[in-house]
Amino acid sequence: MNHFNYQDNIFHCEDVDIREIAKEIGTPFYLYSKATLTHHFKTFDQAFSVPHITCFATKACSNIAILNLFASLGGGADIVSGGELFRALKAGIDPQKIVYSGVGKSRDELRFGLESQILMFNVESQQELLALQDVAAEMGVQAPVSFRVNPDVDPKTHAYISTGLAKNKFGIPIGDALEAYQQAAALANITVQGVSCHIGSQLTDVSPFVESLQKVKNFISTLQHTGIAIKYLDLGGGLGINYEDEEPPVPAQYAQALEAELKDLDCTLILEPGRVIVGNAGILVTKVLYTKQGGKKFTIVDAGMNDLARPSLYGAYHAILPVEDRGQGIETGDVVGPICETGDFLSRDKTMPASQSDDLLAIMSAGAYGFTMSSNYNSRPRVAEVLGDGETFHVIRQRETYEMLIAGEKIP
Ligand SMILES: *Cc1c(COP(=O)(O)O)cnc(C)c1O
Repeated sequence: MNHFNYQDNIFHCEDVDIREIAKEIGTPFYLYSKATLTHHFKTFDQAFSVPHITCFATKACSNIAILNLFASLGGGADIVSGGELFRALKAGIDPQKIVYSGVGKSRDELRFGLESQILMFNVESQQELLALQDVAAEMGVQAPVSFRVNPDVDPKTHAYISTGLAKNKFGIPIGDALEAYQQAAALANITVQGVSCHIGSQLTDVSPFVESLQKVKNFISTLQHTGIAIKYLDLGGGLGINYEDEEPPVPAQYAQALEAELKDLDCTLILEPGRVIVGNAGILVTKVLYTKQGGKKFTIVDAGMNDLARPSLYGAYHAILPVEDRGQGIETGDVVGPICETGDFLSRDKTMPASQSDDLLAIMSAGAYGFTMSSNYNSRPRVAEVLGDGETFHVIRQRETYEMLIAGEKIP
C-alpha cells in the first residue's frame, strides 16, 4: 500500500500535485510519502509480538528527516559506517537502538561507536574483534558485541545482493563461530551480547529466512551449553518488495514464520529492514528532455544512472508512470539519462508511457537504494529530496549547486 495515486489523471503524492513540486523546485527529485513511510514502518514493527527492536537499515535511505520519522515511531538504526552513525545520531535515534554492521569498520569508526554508546557491534572477523578489544581497552570501556555468522543459506536473489553464502565476504562461517565466541568471551573489554545474520536483500520467499534462523538457533543453544548467554538475536533485513510482478510475503507472514521458530528462545529480536520500509514509499520524478528514434525509441530524461543506479547496476526494473495521464498510451523502448555511458538507462526494452518533451515521468519504487547510491558522476549535482505530507511538501535535502560540486577542491 502506498500513497502515490492519480487524482483526475494527475499523479499525486498524498494530496500534493506532483507538477506543483516540479514547478517550484525543478527536476529531477526524489519524492517520499510520509504517510507511506509511517504505514510501512508501523506495519512491519507491529507484525512482531515478541520483544524486538526495528533497526531501520540506514543505507537504504539515509536522509535525517526520514530517520527522524522512524525514531519518532520508536525505531532504531542499522548502520554500516561512521557517516551513518553521525546521521542516525543527528536524526535523534537512541544510541541504545543502533547496531553497527559491516566487514570493514576502521578503528576510528569503532571508537566513534564506543563513544556514542551504541547497542552492539556486529563483528565480522577475528581481526575486527581484536581491533575492537584494543580500542575499547584504550578507552577503558566495554564493547558490546555480536558476531555476524554466515549460515551458508541461498537467498535466491540477485548475486550482488546475496550475502549469506559461504562464498560471500560477509560474517564468519557458522562452523567457525563457536571458537570466535569463546575467544571473545575471554577478552577483557568485550561483552558478548548477541548473534546476528543477514543473508541478502530482496528476498521474495520466507524459507531462506527460516532456514537460517534454524541454523542460528541451534548455534545459540550450543553457545548456551558452553556458558555463553545471548541477549540479542539479530536477524538482519532482506524482505523483498513488489517492483514488477514479485509476490513477496507481507510483514505479517514474515513475522509469523520467524516467531514460529522462536518459541522458547529468550532473546530480544533485532530486525534490520531497509527496502521493505522505504522502497515503495519513494519515487524519482524526472522530465523528458528529448525523444528520438534510432535502432529503437529512446526517451531521454534529465535523471541518469548517477541519480538512480539500480537499473544499470543490477538490471533492476522500475515501473515508469506519466505524471500527467492524457491517455497518451504506451510504447516500447528505452528511457535513458544524459550520462556518457551506454549503461545509463532507467528502463530498457520495456513498455513506458508514450512521451514528449517536457513531460514529467515518475520512476516508481525508488525509495530504497535510490538517493543513497547516487553520485556526482559527470559532475551532476545530486538531486533534491522532498517529503510529501498530506497537502504540503517539504524539501528535506536541497538540490546541490555547482559550488557544492567543487567544495573542498583546490588548485595547488
Ligand atoms: C543492507 C542490509 C540490510 C537491509 O537490507 P534490506 O534488503 O534493504 O532489508 C540489513 N542488514 C544489513 C547488515 C545490511 O547490510
